[in-house]
Amino acid sequence: MGIQVDAPIRGVRDGARRAAAADEKLAELTHNERIVYDALCQSKTPQKAYNLLDKLQEHGLRAPMTIYRALDALIAKGRVRKIESLNAFIAIRPGRSAQARAFLICKECMQAKEITLDEQQVANLFSPLSVSVDDVRIEAFGPCHQVCGR
Ligand SMILES: [Zn+2]
Repeated sequence: MGIQVDAPIRGVRDGARRAAAADEKLAELTHNERIVYDALCQSKTPQKAYNLLDKLQEHGLRAPMTIYRALDALIAKGRVRKIESLNAFIAIRPGRSAQARAFLICKECMQAKEITLDEQQVANLFSPLSVSVDDVRIEAFGPCHQVCGR
C-alpha cells in the first residue's frame, strides 16, 4: 500500500487475471505471447504450431505468422522450448537456472517430462570429447511409467 509503481506494464491488458507472485515475470509477455504461453501451460503434451492455431483462433490469433512470432519470442524469453524431434513446443518451468534441459517423451501418451542438468552434469556427459558445449538439447523417448507404464 502506498507504493508507487512507475514501471510500464507493456502489452498486458489482462491484469485482472491470476496475479500470483510466481507469474510476476509473465508481465513481460505481450498479449499474444501470453495467450500462446497459457495454451502451452494447459497442454499435457507438446503442441505443434498448427494445433495452437486451431485452439487459439477464438482468441483472435488467426494467422500462422502470429503464432510463430509469439513462439519465437517465448523461446527467446526462455518460456518455451521446441522439441525438435516432434517439431512441437512445450512451456518450460520459469525461474530455474539450468545449463541444459532434457525431455523424456512418452511414445504412448506423448507427454513430455522435463529434467534439468547443471553445468557439471553437462560437462561429464561430454568429457570424452574434451570440448565445451552450449545449447544442449536432449530428447529421449520411452514409456513414462506413471501414466502408461505397465
Ligand atoms: Zn505416457
